[in-house]
Amino acid sequence: MSHIEVGILGATGMVGQQFIALLANHPWFKVTWLGASQRSEGKAYQDAAAWRLPAPLPEDVARMQVNAAKPGAAPRLVFSGLDSSVAGEIEGAFAQAGHFVISNSKNYRMEADVPLLIPEINADHLALLETQAAARGWKGSIVTNPNCSTIVLSMALAPLRTFGLKSVMITTLQAISGAGYPGVASWDILGNVIPFIDGEEHKIETETKKILGCYGDKRIDPHPVTVSASTTRVAVQDGHTESISVGLANRPTPEAVIDAFNSFKGKPQELGLPSAPAQPVVYLTEKNRPQPALDVDRGNGMTVTVGRLRPCPLLDYKFIALGHNTIRGAAGAAILNAELMHREGRL
Ligand code: NAP
Repeated sequence: MSHIEVGILGATGMVGQQFIALLANHPWFKVTWLGASQRSEGKAYQDAAAWRLPAPLPEDVARMQVNAAKPGAAPRLVFSGLDSSVAGEIEGAFAQAGHFVISNSKNYRMEADVPLLIPEINADHLALLETQAAARGWKGSIVTNPNCSTIVLSMALAPLRTFGLKSVMITTLQAISGAGYPGVASWDILGNVIPFIDGEEHKIETETKKILGCYGDKRIDPHPVTVSASTTRVAVQDGHTESISVGLANRPTPEAVIDAFNSFKGKPQELGLPSAPAQPVVYLTEKNRPQPALDVDRGNGMTVTVGRLRPCPLLDYKFIALGHNTIRGAAGAAILNAELMHREGRL
């Protein structure tokens, strides 16, 4: 099979680098175009980007020239890891010009006609693309993936919907890679916890309801769950850890909850998509897991691990969840979205 050419907007950033690493040996997609800011435009990628990943920078990409973030010469399918201060305008221009944009940025996530996709949970939300095309008259389209903490939370909550999910209290411990590069100053984060991440709590509280919601009548009905979030930045390189309490109307047994986590599967597993982990949510039985240092790379960074399920004196149960913020929470999520769209004939 010949490869589908793809471009990366924001290719030099933290998420952009993860796209390059994850697409290096992809069976369907091949990176042929890179876009970033004027700071990088015209430079060879290896001179424009401070490569931060343990995986080696692929040689062909290292020599590729970085382009201005303008539509036209880019391939039809474009992944975006653009800074949100510019993503709205640039991604919109690409969609209008006929590109399929798979975005990591916040700008379009909560628009009523834009899918906020996690293929294991809401693959049917892609039907919003028909509404989007009719409403905006774009030749292309925008599909978004959720905020990184929200993806981890939603993956842990989706298996619990069957128990009458009512309420969620969450506190995050988020990795520094989530703030991009160079991100948080070492003076601020070493030996410290920062109890504020701008806009993050609102994203978790609103995006989760859209993701878990139902598609019908050309729109999404948000899930009725109430979410209360507190977010913190901690001195961890990769992996967002989340302490979660849930209220469940049907009062399941602990065994039933653990079985729901472990047996949860969706469209990507059914279709055997290349980036799909065999088991999207894994319950770890050890009393001190999950931990970012030990568990963040499970399923090539696409598996969300959960553990420490116990009764909650305020709600019904509490547990810990962990996910890789730049893979399952960003680039890997976007690639899985594109794989689903390809298999459904939407590219
Ligand atoms: P980052 O490391 O700061 O990278 C930002 C990228 O945007 C760089 O490639 C930068 O290019 C480009 N850019 C900035 N200004 C531009 C402009 N005026 N025109 C064109 N390109 C411009 O940020 P990141 O952590 O990768 O995050 C990227 C996006 O993904 C953000 O919207 C973020 O909220 C979202 N996200 C991040 C994570 C995570 O864990 N890091 C997870 C989920 C979602 P230059 O290098 O040329 O400046």
